[in-house]
Formats: sequence, C-alpha cells, structure tokens
Amino acid sequence: MLSIRDLVKVYPGSTTALAGVSLDVSEGVFGLLGPNGAGKTTLMRVLAGVLEATSGTAELDGVSIVDHPERIRERTGYLPQDFGFLPHLSGERMLRYLLRLKGVRSPQGEKELCRALLDRVHLEDAAKRKVKTYSGGMRQRLGIAQAVAGDPRLIIVDEPTAGLDPEERLRFYRLLSELAQDRIVILSTHIVEDVAVLCPRFVVIRQGRLVADTSPSEARRALEGAIHEGAVDALEFNRFVADPSRRVTQAYLVEGRNRVRIYQTTGDLPPGFRTVAPTLEDAYMILIKTGSLPGSSRAGEGATP
Ligand code: ADP
Repeated sequence: MLSIRDLVKVYPGSTTALAGVSLDVSEGVFGLLGPNGAGKTTLMRVLAGVLEATSGTAELDGVSIVDHPERIRERTGYLPQDFGFLPHLSGERMLRYLLRLKGVRSPQGEKELCRALLDRVHLEDAAKRKVKTYSGGMRQRLGIAQAVAGDPRLIIVDEPTAGLDPEERLRFYRLLSELAQDRIVILSTHIVEDVAVLCPRFVVIRQGRLVADTSPSEARRALEGAIHEGAVDALEFNRFVADPSRRVTQAYLVEGRNRVRIYQTTGDLPPGFRTVAPTLEDAYMILIKTGSLPGSSRAGEGATP
C-alpha cells in the first residue's frame, strides 16, 4: 500500500506544483490524470524519491519516503517522461548500462538478468538491434525493462504512451496490466483513453490538487442524462462553443461536420441535440473545467465557478 498525506511541493520562485495531495493506492494500475502543468511529474518524482517534497509524507508499505528515500528507491521502478537512450547501443547493451547505473545485481549474472528482462517486455528478438532502430513503443518497453529490474513493489510511469501508434499503445497497455498483477503501478497521463483502458481507479489532478478519486464507470454514471450531442453549423460553431452559458465537453468533426457534446441538466436543449451516453472524456472535461462531478465525494474541493 502506498499512503500519501498532505504532500506539498513549492518550487523556488514560489510555483506551488502540489498543494496538499492525500491518497491511498493499492495493487493494480492506478491512473493519475491531468492536463499539462497540473503537477503530475512533480508528484511522480517525489514518489520515486528523486525530488524532495516541501512538506507532507508518503509511505510505501509503512516505509517513509521522507525518512528513507534510499530504501524507497530500491523498491521503486521509475520510467520518467524524458528517458534518455544512447542510440548507438544495442537494446541489450543499453539495458546492461542502465542496470549498472541503477546498481541492480542478480545471482544468475548480468547477462541472464538482461535476457530475462528483455523477455519480460517482449523484446527478446530485438536485443541485438541498435536502440536508434527501435520504434517509440519498443523504446518505452526497454524503459520498462529497467524499471522492473530488481522486482520493485511500486512502478511509476510518466506519460508513457504519448507518441505511440495504436498498436504499440495496446501492447504497452498489456505489459502494464501484466506487471500490475502483483504490484502497484502508477500511470501518469493526460490521455483519457489510457485511464479508460487500464485503470479500475484513478484520480484527476488540477493545479496541484486532486479534484476526483473515482473509477471510469462511476465517473460516467455521475453524468448520466446530462450529456447531449448534436451537429452545429460551421458558421455557428465558434459562437456556439464560446457561449459561456454552455458547458462544451467535446467538439469534433465527423465526415467534415461539427459534432458538439454539451453538459446540461436543466432547460431546453439546442435544436437537434439529443441525450447520449456519457464518456470518460466528458467527465474529465467537466472535472478540469469545474473541479467536480455532480454528487462526487470531492465535489467543491478546489472548485471554481
Ligand atoms: P505536469 O507533469 O502535470 O505537466 P509538472 O509537475 O511538470 O506538471 O509541473 C507543475 C507546475 O510546476 C507547472 O506550473 C510547472 O511549470 C512547475 N514546475 C515544474 N518543474 C519546475 C521546476 N523545476 N522549477 C519551477 N517550476 C517547475
């Protein structure tokens, strides 16, 4: 169990990146969803023991990150957002280099350990290829191989699916859910689909505060009957979405025509609009704009009108 209490991080120059985050996380894939600048990377780095919090505590199975950062680092695998690869090394050499940096040793020897890790992330056939020839998804899986070395209790992955094509993304999702069978995996992301596919539970972070702690199905249920969709004429579109009385949750094009989804609980719907099943994207947009979902336990926390 990972228990986080009142974590605050103020960077020099007084940017408050975390404004008091409290959370309990158990085994499985746990989602941390939020827009750019919300504080996700800061939280991930504090939990990985590579950045000191200004105040607050976090404990992994009862061991304090504040008092024993070295013990936490031993039990944590971290795949940061900007993972640096040495392009001219083979996958295997790169992994050996990373394991040495991390100080991971294995009774069966470095070579065997590398082989086992490359198998684990399904890169065995690409072990001898140079990293520069790897696809984005293969690089991320190599990053996971180093994160999983030493059999950590907690794995932290920061925005891992950005830039992956749909097939690679699916493969990466499968790998994360495999790894989460018997450990805690925290997935930080701004991509709603990541959470919809992988996370039985997730939190939404906005301006350094958690504004929801829920599941994808619960978040959708909170908006039942309140999401409506319709076509909007191209000439009307800008005025329609800028109208402050409307809560637009999504706007996209279907075969060249504007489709708009809105959140509305009372009054007449715009002409041609009909009530539709809410999606997690709708719930996320409401949370980011208003700071709460109707009837949610954290409703009102950090909310702005
Ligand atoms: P996210 O990962 O959700 O995009 P970050 O944790 O990177 O968010 O950033 C949260 C806030 O902290 C942002 O306002 C960002 O500009 C600021 N920030 C991040 N890193 C630093 C730093 N090293 N020094 C000062 N401010 C920072």
